[in-house]
Amino acid sequence: CGIVGCILKENNDVAPILFECISMLEYRGYDSIGMATYDNEINVRKAKGDIKTVNGKLNFKNMKGCLGIAHTRWASTGKPTDENAHPQLDDSKSVAVVHNGTLENYSQIKEELIEKGYEFKSTTDTEVIPNLIREFLDEGLNMEDAVRKAAGKLKGSYAIVAFAKDEPGKIVAIRKGSPLIVSYGKEGYFVASDTPAVLNHARNIIRPNEGEIAILTKNGIEIHDENGKSVKWESKYIDWSP
Ligand code: GLU
Repeated sequence: CGIVGCILKENNDVAPILFECISMLEYRGYDSIGMATYDNEINVRKAKGDIKTVNGKLNFKNMKGCLGIAHTRWASTGKPTDENAHPQLDDSKSVAVVHNGTLENYSQIKEELIEKGYEFKSTTDTEVIPNLIREFLDEGLNMEDAVRKAAGKLKGSYAIVAFAKDEPGKIVAIRKGSPLIVSYGKEGYFVASDTPAVLNHARNIIRPNEGEIAILTKNGIEIHDENGKSVKWESKYIDWSP
């Protein structure tokens, strides 16, 4: 239901900012919350419940790493449970994904992946996404191409934000039929399902088109078209407070 991703320019911990941003999307409704950060390994904390209670248990704000993603889930496929909360990881725990939307063909993809030896831990539609990305990274694709190829397999709606151990300084995002904005501010670069998430930190809003892919690193934002060609993006300054 709500998505935030952030990478900081400096080597500070992103968790307090991520937690603040995802909390701004609480008004949209949700049943679970989770965060993943990268600090030489992928750290994940997630659970069913409301933000305050879950944070009391999991203490999101002391997670380490200057890059991370956060999610509030409104279950569409698979019950609200701790396992089904996002981020969802691949079998080898090297790719982390948050997803808004609903995938129509996930059970077919899941069957194919299970046949190839991938193991699944949740009953979400989302879990096929990190595993597809893993499959394509293992074929030798870079993260951008692996995410694009994975998205190309999906039917339904999605906003996907992902990162992988393979390219640890990078957040990759793509959407179809679900909203996603990219933004930048003093501290770093952001991606979110909705502008109120980021306005306390970033007011320059870019709206990628469907088919485009956004790549965030600590050095900036790149938007590429479906052929991997750089798109010249424009941002709009939002002079408004949530
Ligand atoms: N379909 C996904 C799930 O049920 C995402 C739901 C959402 O948009 O929050 O886990």
